[in-house]
Amino acid sequence: MREVGKSGVRCLGQLDLSADAQLHIEAAPTPLQHGQVGVLVSDGTVVCQQSSGTLSHLRLHSHDMSSQAHVMDTFERQKGCFLQALALNRFALAFKIGLALNSRDLWLALGRRSLECLDIAWAKKAYRQAPAPGMVMYLDKIQTVEDKLLLSGHVSALFGNFAKAREYFLQSCSPETALDMHCDFLEWDQALQLAQTYAPHRLSDIYLKSASQLEGRNQNEQALSHYEMAMRDHIPGTRPEHESQCKAGIARTSVKMGDLPRGMQMALDLNDPTVCRDCAAVLHKMKQYVEAAQLYEAAGSYDQAASLYILDLNFDAAAPLMAKISTPKLHLQFAKAKESRGAYQDALVAYERARDLDSMVRICLDNLNQPQKAFQLVRETKLATGAERVAEYCRKNGNISGAVEFLLLAKNTDEAFLLAERQDEMATFEAGLGDHGTQQQHRAIAKYYEQRNLLANAAKHYALCEEYPTALRLYLKVGEKEIDHAIEVVGKARNDSLTHTLIDYLMGETDNVPKDANYVYRLHKALGNYMQAAGTAHIIAKQEQEMGNYKQAHQLLFRTYQDLKSQKLALPQELWRRLMLLHSYVIVKRLVKAADHHSAAIMLVRVAKNIQQFPAHIVPILTSVVIECQRAKMPGESYQYACTLMKPEYRKDVSEQYKKKIENIVRKPPPEVDQRDALEASLPCMYCGFNFAESQLDCLNCKNISPFCIASGMRMLKEDWSNCPACNFPARYSVFSAMLQANEQCPMCDAVVKPEELVLVSDPTQQIGYYKSLFQASESESAPAPPPPPPPPA
Ligand SMILES: [Zn+2]
Ligand SMILES: [Zn+2]
Repeated sequence: MREVGKSGVRCLGQLDLSADAQLHIEAAPTPLQHGQVGVLVSDGTVVCQQSSGTLSHLRLHSHDMSSQAHVMDTFERQKGCFLQALALNRFALAFKIGLALNSRDLWLALGRRSLECLDIAWAKKAYRQAPAPGMVMYLDKIQTVEDKLLLSGHVSALFGNFAKAREYFLQSCSPETALDMHCDFLEWDQALQLAQTYAPHRLSDIYLKSASQLEGRNQNEQALSHYEMAMRDHIPGTRPEHESQCKAGIARTSVKMGDLPRGMQMALDLNDPTVCRDCAAVLHKMKQYVEAAQLYEAAGSYDQAASLYILDLNFDAAAPLMAKISTPKLHLQFAKAKESRGAYQDALVAYERARDLDSMVRICLDNLNQPQKAFQLVRETKLATGAERVAEYCRKNGNISGAVEFLLLAKNTDEAFLLAERQDEMATFEAGLGDHGTQQQHRAIAKYYEQRNLLANAAKHYALCEEYPTALRLYLKVGEKEIDHAIEVVGKARNDSLTHTLIDYLMGETDNVPKDANYVYRLHKALGNYMQAAGTAHIIAKQEQEMGNYKQAHQLLFRTYQDLKSQKLALPQELWRRLMLLHSYVIVKRLVKAADHHSAAIMLVRVAKNIQQFPAHIVPILTSVVIECQRAKMPGESYQYACTLMKPEYRKDVSEQYKKKIENIVRKPPPEVDQRDALEASLPCMYCGFNFAESQLDCLNCKNISPFCIASGMRMLKEDWSNCPACNFPARYSVFSAMLQANEQCPMCDAVVKPEELVLVSDPTQQIGYYKSLFQASESESAPAPPPPPPPPA
C-alpha cells in the first residue's frame, strides 16, 4: 500500500483497481522518437524539438484519455478515463465521470485515493455517493484535524494499518490518540505502556479495565495486582464507584487466589450483596462452606447460607436463619437434624415450616406428648396418614371415640364402624360420617339403633338410605314428637300409600287422637301441594283468628301468600281478603301511635264491618272503633257502633272506663248522617283512573281489585308506589317512608327496613299489570277444594 499523505503523482502507466479499491499503476513510459528532444511538458503534452529545429507535440500515454471522456463512450472507455484522472489526482474530473458511471467500486476507489492524498473533502463526496455513511460520519469528525501526522494516523487506522497509525499518532501533536486506539481495541498492555508516558492520569482507569479483563481470563494473580494498581493510582475519596469496583475485584481475586481472610474482609467491608454473593459462589466451589455461608448470609441470601450451614452440620449457625427462609426442603433437612439430636420442639417448628404434617403428628404423639395438638392438626388438614397414626394412638390409649373419629378420617370406614358398634360409639361415627355416608353405611347404622330400640335414630338413617316405609313406621311408633320428621320422610318419598298412612295418623284414625292442623299444612307443603297447603293454612288461620291469635293468623297467611307467589300459583281471593282484614287490624296500633287517627278509624271500621270474624274481642274492638271515630271526627260511625255496644248482649262486657262516654254518645245522635264519604279522600283507581274513596279496594268502575298499602291499609296509588325490599309487598311511598322513620320494621313481614332502602317506583306499570292478572286469576280459576276440616278436638 502506498504511504498515506505521500501520494503525489510519481509514476505513470497502466492502471488497474484491486479488490479493496486500491489503484495500481504499472509504469508505461512514452518513448521519444529518434532525434526528438523534449523541451517542455504541459498537461501531458511534451513539446519536442526536432534536429531540424522544428517543434512537434507528443501526448503522454498517461494522459491520452483524460481530457476526452464523453458520455456517449462505452463504459470501459469512460472507466479508463476515470482511472487516468484518479492516477493524476484530478479528483474533480474523476468525480464528474463517476457521476456518469455511478459504480460503487469506482466511488470507493475515488474515496480511497482522496484519503491517501489526505483530501478529506473529496473523500467525503465520494463516500457519500458510494454510499458509505459510516465512513462519511467518521470523516466529518477528523475533517478539522490540521496536523498532517495526526490526520495520517487516523487515515492509516481507517485502512486497518494500526502499527503505522500508532507511529503517526506518536509523532503527532496528540500522541494520546494512540492510547485511545489501544483502549478501543481493549489492548490494555499497550495502553498501559503509553499511559505511563503520555497520560499518567488515566492509569488507574486503564489498570481497572485491564484487571477486569485479566480476571475474565482467569489470570487472577495479575488481575489482583492490576486491581491494586488501580487503587494505588487513584486519589482516595474522589470516585467512590471506581474505588468500590477495585475493592470488589480485590475481594474476588483474593478469594480465588486462596487469601480468604483478605477477600472476605474486603467483601464484608464493601457491604455489597452482589460482591458477597460472587465471593460466596467462589468459596462454595472451593468447598469452603462455612465461609461461603457467612458471605451468603451477609448478602441476604438466607436459603443458600442455611443450606451450606446444614451441609456443614453447623446447626447453631443455621438456626437463626431458619425463620427467614422459605424452601421446604431446607426446613426438612433442619428438622431431621434437630430430631436426630432430640430437639423435638425445634424439630416440630421446622417440620411445620417444611409443611411435613405427618412428621408433625408423629412428633406430637411420640415425643412431645401433645396428642391434642396432633388431633387438631389432623382434623384441620384431613391428612389420611396422620389420621391413621392418631387413630392407632387413641386405640392404644383407650380413647374409643377418638379412634372412631380418626379411623374415619383415615378413610378406614369399615373398621371405624366395627369399633363404634362394638364399643357403643355410634354417635361419633355418625358425626364423622357427616353427609358423606353411603346407603349401605346408613342401613348398618339404622340396624344398630333399631336393635337398641333407639327408633328415632334408626328411622333417621332408614330415611337416609331411602327405606322410607321403615323410617315412617318407626317415626310414627315414636309418636307426636317425631311428626315433623315423619312429614319430611313422606315429602321425600312421594308415595301415595305412605302419604295416606301419615294422613290417617294425623286425622287420629290410628290412635283416635287427632293432631294439630298445622301438621297437615306442613305435610302438603312437604309434598309440594301448595294449593292444598294454602287451603289448610286458611282453615288454620281462621281457627287462630277465632281464638284471638291475630298475629299468628296474619303470619301464617303471609307465609302462604309468599309460598304461592314463589310457586307462581293463583292466589285464592278468600285467603287474600282474610289477610287484608287481619293486616288492617294489625296496623291500627301503629297508626294510633303515629297520631293518624283518621286512617286508624277507617281501618277499625273495616274490621268492625266483619266483626263476626273476631268473636274473641267483639266488645274491645267495637269500643276502639267508637273512641277512634270520635277522635277522627266521624260522629256517624261512632254513634252507630256505640249503639251496637249498648245492646244487652254486649253492654255488660263494656269496660267501666268507657261505659259513661259511650252512653253519652248514644244519647246525642249526630245532627247529620254519616260524613265518612266526605271525610275520606277520593282518589283515582290505579287501573282506570276513576275516583273513589281511598279505603275501597274494589273499583266500582272497572271492577278490578287494587292491592292495599301495607303501611296505611289504603288502596295503592299509581303515583306513590314503593315495595318493601324484604317481602316485596306494595306500600305508599310517602306513608311507608314516614312510618319507617319511627319504626324500622315492615308491618307485613317484620323485617328490619331502613328508610333509605325504600325507593319510589316511578313507573309501576309492571306491578299494576301483575296485580291485575293476579286478582283476575284468583277469581276465574276455580280455587282448589280446601281439605276437609279436622274433627273437633276430643
Ligand atoms: Zn278502576
Ligand atoms: Zn315486608
